[in-house]
Amino acid sequence: MTEKIDIHDVPIDNVSMDEALDAVLEMLKTKEKHMIFTPNAEIIMQANRDPELNSILNKAHLVVPDGAGVILASKILGKRLKEKVSGIDLVKRIFASTAKKSIGFYILGGKPGVAEKASINIVSEYPKAKVCGYRNGYFSNQEIPDIIKHINDSKAEILLVGLGAPKQEKWIYNHIQDLNCKIAMGIGGSIDVFAGTATMAPEFIRKSGFEWLYRLIKEPKRAKRMLDLPRFMFLTFKTKLKKK
Ligand code: UDP
Repeated sequence: MTEKIDIHDVPIDNVSMDEALDAVLEMLKTKEKHMIFTPNAEIIMQANRDPELNSILNKAHLVVPDGAGVILASKILGKRLKEKVSGIDLVKRIFASTAKKSIGFYILGGKPGVAEKASINIVSEYPKAKVCGYRNGYFSNQEIPDIIKHINDSKAEILLVGLGAPKQEKWIYNHIQDLNCKIAMGIGGSIDVFAGTATMAPEFIRKSGFEWLYRLIKEPKRAKRMLDLPRFMFLTFKTKLKKK
C-alpha cells in the first residue's frame, strides 16, 4: 500500500515512476482485478463536478499524477507528490518491462484504424510486448457484450482503454466484473500517440510544465475544457488559504 495524497478529494498515490511500475508488476502476480487511472488537473476538476467519477477514482487501486499541475498543487498544499507519473510514460515503461517478462495487452479506443496502427508500432518498438487484440472506441451499448467477449478471449492481462475521460473511467468501472484481465487502465489519447496520429510535446516542454500550452496550440478545440486548469489552480489557492 502506498501513501495516498488528497488533491481536491481525489486520492493520488505518492509514487515515483519506478514505484508505479513495480506496483503494476505486482498486480500482475495476483488473481485480483485492478483499475489504474491517471488524472491530470482537468480530470480532477471533472471529478469535482461529477460524484460518479469521483467515487470511481476513490475506488481505484492505483491513481498516478498525470501532469505538472497536479504536482504543483501538491506542493502548494504542502503534501508534495514525489514526481509526475504520466499515463503514457507509465504505459511505455510497462511495454519496456516485457523484455524481462511477457505480458499480453488489449488496446481499446481511438477512431477506426487507430488502435491497429498503434498495435503495429508498439510491437515494432517493443518486440516482446504481446498485443493480443484491439478495437476502436466507437461502439453502441448493444456491442459491449461482444467487445468484452473479444477482450476475454484474447487472454490479455492488461486492458488499455482510451475513450477519453470520464468515459474510460466509467466504462472500466462498469465492466471490470465481467472482464478477465488483471489490470484495466485508462490511457486517454495515448493510443493516438502510439499510432502516430497525435504527437507528444517535445521533452523540454514536458519538463517545463507547459505541456498544456503545447496541447492548446495543437488542438485549439480543447480551449473550453482547458479552462479547468486556471479553475484548478484557483481551487488550490483557495484550499490553501482556508487551511491557514
Ligand atoms: N474516443 C473513443 N471513443 C469515444 C470518444 C473518444 O475512442 O467515444 C477516443 C478518441 O478517439 C481519442 C481519445 O478517446 O483517442 C480521447 O482523447 P482525448 O485527448 O480527448 O483524451 P484525454 O487524454 O484528454 O482524456
